[in-house]
Amino acid sequence: MSFSVTILGSGAALPTGKRNPTSQYIFCNNRHILIDCGEGTQMQLRKFGIPFQRITHIFISHLHGDHFFGLPGLLSTMNLLGRNRGVTIYGPPQLKDILTQLFECGGQKLMFKLNFVPTSTDGKKILFEDKLIEIKSFPLKHRIPTTGFRIQEKPKEFRLNPEAIEQDQIPIEFYHRLKKGESPINENGKTIDFKKYTFSPNPSFSYAFCSDTAYYEEVIPFIKDATLLYHEATFTEKDKDRARLTFHSTAKEAAQIATAANVKKLIVGHLSSRYSETEEHLSEASAYFENTEVAEDGMKVELKKL
Ligand SMILES: [Zn+2]
Repeated sequence: MSFSVTILGSGAALPTGKRNPTSQYIFCNNRHILIDCGEGTQMQLRKFGIPFQRITHIFISHLHGDHFFGLPGLLSTMNLLGRNRGVTIYGPPQLKDILTQLFECGGQKLMFKLNFVPTSTDGKKILFEDKLIEIKSFPLKHRIPTTGFRIQEKPKEFRLNPEAIEQDQIPIEFYHRLKKGESPINENGKTIDFKKYTFSPNPSFSYAFCSDTAYYEEVIPFIKDATLLYHEATFTEKDKDRARLTFHSTAKEAAQIATAANVKKLIVGHLSSRYSETEEHLSEASAYFENTEVAEDGMKVELKKL
């Protein structure tokens, strides 16, 4: 099962030729997920060859335009292309009215169902769950209510050991329980010990998204031990005052959060258009958390390779 993150937009509020506003596409255990949808997201999806009609879950962190102005356009295009499969949008409660009014004013009737799940900044919330994954939101510290998201694979099943199974002629009806780590008893009263017939499960991966936010230690428990953390670093330390004023983080602060949360890898993004190069962000963050990369539009990360 694959779990990858593609950065569609790595810039802050002012788009540049190199950086679109925030959006990310996550492919996780056959789920097609979008996090944030800044202006131009549909063009980025096309540019990077992502089948956007397959997206069924869209998560919006907050209602600053650079995180959702692309959503009406994307939904509209999905509609024009004849979509009939529903989309679920998870975001601040006002988003439902904003979109409804926009489509009403334009006389556009969507031919597919839009489901809304309101987010809140009141602690940790499970927004989505199935057999394989779980998606939670948690509060960030920004000028308006903002949530981060964590996509977590659930613990995986034990893997059958075909040689051991063959050797002892274990009947197929026991496979299911062995994979769950259970030791069934056969008709002769003999215990079939799962440890003898399975290998340990493959690791479960997780992705945490923190944008936009000021330095905020309260997020640490929510993102603890994530395989990959995307944390905003709109500024570097030389513009620390600006970061304070606008409730954003510096590269150093993002790295400090990554260290405290014991994540495996950090990607810093949401870079202000005032920086044309990324060296400053990289050296500043790497000094506090070595395994850091600066986000670029089009960057794709496979979590199992980290
Ligand atoms: Zn913002």
